[in-house]
Amino acid sequence: MPELAEVEWYRKQWNAGIGNKIVDVRMHPRNRVFRGTNMRKLQENLAGEKLRRSAARGKRMLFEFSGDNWLGLHLGMTGKIHIAVANFRPDKHDHLVLYQRERALVFTDSRQFGRVRFHYGRHQPGWWTSDVPEIISPEFDQKFVDQFLDRHRKAPIKAVVLMQNGFSGIGNWMADEILWRARIHPATRAGEMTARKREKLFRETKLVVRESLRTLGKDYSDPPRTWLIHQKWKPDGICPRHRTPLRRATIGGRTTAWCPRCQR
Ligand SMILES: [Zn+2]
Repeated sequence: MPELAEVEWYRKQWNAGIGNKIVDVRMHPRNRVFRGTNMRKLQENLAGEKLRRSAARGKRMLFEFSGDNWLGLHLGMTGKIHIAVANFRPDKHDHLVLYQRERALVFTDSRQFGRVRFHYGRHQPGWWTSDVPEIISPEFDQKFVDQFLDRHRKAPIKAVVLMQNGFSGIGNWMADEILWRARIHPATRAGEMTARKREKLFRETKLVVRESLRTLGKDYSDPPRTWLIHQKWKPDGICPRHRTPLRRATIGGRTTAWCPRCQR
């Protein structure tokens, strides 16, 4: 499932089309990625308009078009964005194609947990506005993290780090990476963490996000070799620090890997 660094990389794939006009829009009717969206309006409004810019917030993306038109995308589990040739023929999983004279902007989603939204209006759509700070922003600070942990004292920390209204854009692999780096057992209750552990959690969250954006988010290259992600899915995965075999269990509803020696 794409997390914030992958989302950032996908968002930039349509950059090639910035400044160019949309000449045609094609969609698969009755597809659930369009749930709640006025598809006819999307089609009528975007034709003839130019792609202006885009932004990402956590796992969500917003594309701004001329004429006060806004397109929101969420990749869900299997969503992808790419650029194709101008005479691109959509396959069954290519649910939205925005044709420009020079190329096609394509949204693909095989399992259809993703979402396409459309808004017409001078200001950013209501569903885009959010008071949850992005992790790279200064507003995501120790105080914010402490207050968030206090609100979820009884939940295992793994589940808390997956909550999008606190840790915007963090998903399963980044959560495991953060807890491994901070040396916190994923089943620890948020309310039982010492001030020192909370500080570590905050610091490592910032670091994992920053480094992921610098690698994956920039050019889809691998995060550093010393990270847990390279071991996490291997059946015989080991802790990159001292080669202890990793443990696995379902915590916070997700398959979780941790090192029994680093994360007691
Ligand atoms: Zn270890």
